[in-house]
Amino acid sequence: MPETNQKQETVLQSVIARSKVIDAIVVQRGAMRLVPDLLSMHFDDRKVFLVADDNTRHAAGARLTEILEQQGFAVTSEIFPGTPRLKGAVENGEILVARMRESGGIPVAVGSGVINDLVKYAAFQLGIPYVSVATAASMDGYASAGSPLTVKGFKHTIPCAAPRVMVADLDVITAAPKEMASWGYGDLAGKLPAGADWLIADALGIEPLDDAAWPLVQTNLKEWLSNPAGLANGDPEATGGLFTGLVAAGIAMEVHGSSRPASGADHQVAHLWEMDGLKLNGLPVSHGTCVAVGALTILSLYEWLLDQDLRSLDAADIVANRRRLPDLETEIARRFPSPDIAERAIKETQAKYVGDDELAGRIARIGEVWPDLCRRLADYLPAFEEMREMLATAGVATSPAEIGIDRDYHRQTLIAARLIRRRYTILDFLEETGRLEAAVEHVFSHSGRWG
Ligand SMILES: [Zn+2]
Repeated sequence: MPETNQKQETVLQSVIARSKVIDAIVVQRGAMRLVPDLLSMHFDDRKVFLVADDNTRHAAGARLTEILEQQGFAVTSEIFPGTPRLKGAVENGEILVARMRESGGIPVAVGSGVINDLVKYAAFQLGIPYVSVATAASMDGYASAGSPLTVKGFKHTIPCAAPRVMVADLDVITAAPKEMASWGYGDLAGKLPAGADWLIADALGIEPLDDAAWPLVQTNLKEWLSNPAGLANGDPEATGGLFTGLVAAGIAMEVHGSSRPASGADHQVAHLWEMDGLKLNGLPVSHGTCVAVGALTILSLYEWLLDQDLRSLDAADIVANRRRLPDLETEIARRFPSPDIAERAIKETQAKYVGDDELAGRIARIGEVWPDLCRRLADYLPAFEEMREMLATAGVATSPAEIGIDRDYHRQTLIAARLIRRRYTILDFLEETGRLEAAVEHVFSHSGRWG
């Protein structure tokens, strides 16, 4: 076994050991042939309820059905249309719940993002385990315990369970449309600024790092991201590394009990764009593409932040001039015309709003920890240009224009992003130190990254 594969295997074994739900993960070429044996080992049923769409049936579903039937499994299929692209909405999940209940059998999701999310949701509603057969290294949700689905237009991560068995056949995954691996690469690259957000929250005593989840994502992250050119060329080793990273991120979320290990301000901005139904050439812009641009956007704020000296902030002045809850509620009402979304945003914003004394204490703490924190962040984060080049080499979008957003929308959504999630990120850090406006103004100025 080559050294890289061995390393991947070690990561996957530690991932399985950490997961309460996942019994087996197979990432290798030709892995589809192993599915009948895996089902026999981990389930009692000889019936399969296979869910795919037209594209993933063509890529893997039809062949998997043949392989299963040859081994004596009875297969019932639920095939969604390939176009228009299936929506990750709870309403679609409920349709699947009804069909799954009616059909019985082991649910097997053959697909990537949305197919996997919907099957995960439906199986969890019925209280049964499921199998994920991945067709692309396009996102980190395969192994995660939550399913990101929209409910009345607002994206929620709905608590579910990870699959019992996961299979990634690298022959299938490297044959997927090229851009799909670039989406996965964008999603995984987002773990860099997300990690920085967690370092800040840890340093301020808001959310300590988790000894199990942090290393699962961060120990090998830079290595998984190190071969974007190989990935773009369909190299199985680079693709296997990316897939392993995405799976590890999914498990880290399960281990930690929230998406903190895998998602920070980069994802908050991306979620806003996704909620607005961002489209380019008539197609929804993928999650990973939104995260790639989101990650670069957040990295530009970090670049500004790491140039600041925060050792002697004036707490009294900052507290006196802060925006208070009623100001934030007015801002929410102005930015989110949908009452459902506004109501949720108010709850999220209230949850992380701290009183004046607590804020003053936090600002004092920032003064103490800043030299160390700043150094740590600078060591940890890649340079903006380095990250942009890596993403571009992987083939994912790096500019707002490539995802169909203009400068003003980009800027407005960056300011609004912190209002939709209670998670503490660089955006909150900037807001609470009275610097959000200055930072945003800088990155959108002529000398900034988006000017
Ligand atoms: Zn993601």
